[in-house]
Amino acid sequence: MIKNYDIAIIGGGASGLAAAISASETNPKLNIVILERLSRVGKKLLATGNGRCNFTNNNISEANYHGSCACLFNSLKNFDCELFFSELGVMSYADNEFRVYPVNNNASSVLDALRLRIADTDIEIRNDFAVTDIKSEKNGYIISSESDSINAKSVIVAGGGMSQANLGSDGSVIRILKKLGIKIAPLSPALTSFKVNPGQVRSLKGIRVNAIVTLYENGKKIGSETGEVQFGDGTISGICVFNLSCLAYGKENLSISLNMLPEVNFRDVKEYICKLREIRKNAALEDFLTGIVNKRIGMDIIKKNTGYPLTDNASVLTDKDIEKIASGITDYSFKISGLSGFEKSQVTAGGVHFSETDTFFRSKRFRNMYFCGEILDIIGDCGGYNLHFAFGSGLISGKTCAEDLL
Ligand SMILES: Cc1cc2nc3c(=O)[nH]c(=O)nc-3n(C[C@H](O)[C@H](O)[C@H](O)COP(=O)(O)OP(=O)(O)OC[C@H]3O[C@@H](n4cnc5c(N)ncnc54)[C@H](O)[C@@H]3O)c2cc1C
Repeated sequence: MIKNYDIAIIGGGASGLAAAISASETNPKLNIVILERLSRVGKKLLATGNGRCNFTNNNISEANYHGSCACLFNSLKNFDCELFFSELGVMSYADNEFRVYPVNNNASSVLDALRLRIADTDIEIRNDFAVTDIKSEKNGYIISSESDSINAKSVIVAGGGMSQANLGSDGSVIRILKKLGIKIAPLSPALTSFKVNPGQVRSLKGIRVNAIVTLYENGKKIGSETGEVQFGDGTISGICVFNLSCLAYGKENLSISLNMLPEVNFRDVKEYICKLREIRKNAALEDFLTGIVNKRIGMDIIKKNTGYPLTDNASVLTDKDIEKIASGITDYSFKISGLSGFEKSQVTAGGVHFSETDTFFRSKRFRNMYFCGEILDIIGDCGGYNLHFAFGSGLISGKTCAEDLL
């Protein structure tokens, strides 16, 4: 026999767990179920912040969000995520970039706090329930998996995007919403690394440098971030690169440039390298720039900008060469061939379009349907902004849903 619930929450991730807690707090008598496709809830949470879970940020505004739903951040204005977790028993601290973590640097304590709170309620969790269909009926919804179905008066859709499907969200819920006629902004990987010609960075693999990173489209600057950049296997990554990736979607002819000496003006860089030609006149070119930049980067800059064999003596450098080397350090450029895919991205851009929801996260098209978290067309910058939105939107949608049933 099909079981009946007041509220079914599709997805037991950050937003779904928060939605369940607030719906139950708003009306403890409601019969609530969380439907989760994996064999446990909150798997992605455990992987966040490199296992430390950067769950919010103390310097947050609408400017940290992108997508048609970015303005929904304003619905969360009174939400204090640190306080929410403090009341669930999680002590936290902020680092010098305002990123907030649990004080024990352990993502599992964030998930445990949510699970312990849920254990105090009558909320039911049904794991291994991969929703394949949502049918709108006169008095609510029939929600089905391959082998089971339930009835619910209301449904909160918290199925996430499609980044790193092994952690849960595989885009299946978005496909179901599309079938229902809900407008979905095109999906793309975001907060992800840039792909470059592997030959261009082969010798740089594993290196990390601090730089101002500027993103160009057709040679025109479209964004800039400061921070640590990492060179990988045909990729360039790092938090600052992840943030720039949000601006790169759908664009072509992109390149990035690293200024590895941002605090020194170009003339002084040139003068210093001129002096270095004297200081290191007996050194081989392969060692010429050590002390200014990473040795392997130094070799790459000399190779790309002069063409001399690296075994040549530094005294071969002309003033023109010096100028080019200075440019190589302050404008170390790479052509971008694309963005790394969903399997590497932290979040998914696109999703339920703003035209489909009100500011309380209610569907405009379907009665007693609500959306929260990453399934909406909103992404935050790197730094705790995505989980902040997931928890905040989950809490509001849960409360709205429970109040609408009163
Ligand atoms: C490696 C990694 C590190 C990250 N680190 C951070 C960080 O430190 N700080 C930060 O702010 N953000 C971080 N993020 C982003 C953040 O984790 C997400 O934005 C956030 O988890 C979104 O929450 P959500 O509830 O909307 O979706 P999810 O957390 O993805 O949860 C969705 C849930 O729905 C379930 N589901 C999907 N389809 C179905 C279906 N058909 N039926 C039933 N259940 C289904 C999934 O299994 C999943 O449990 C990180 C992401 C990744 C991948």
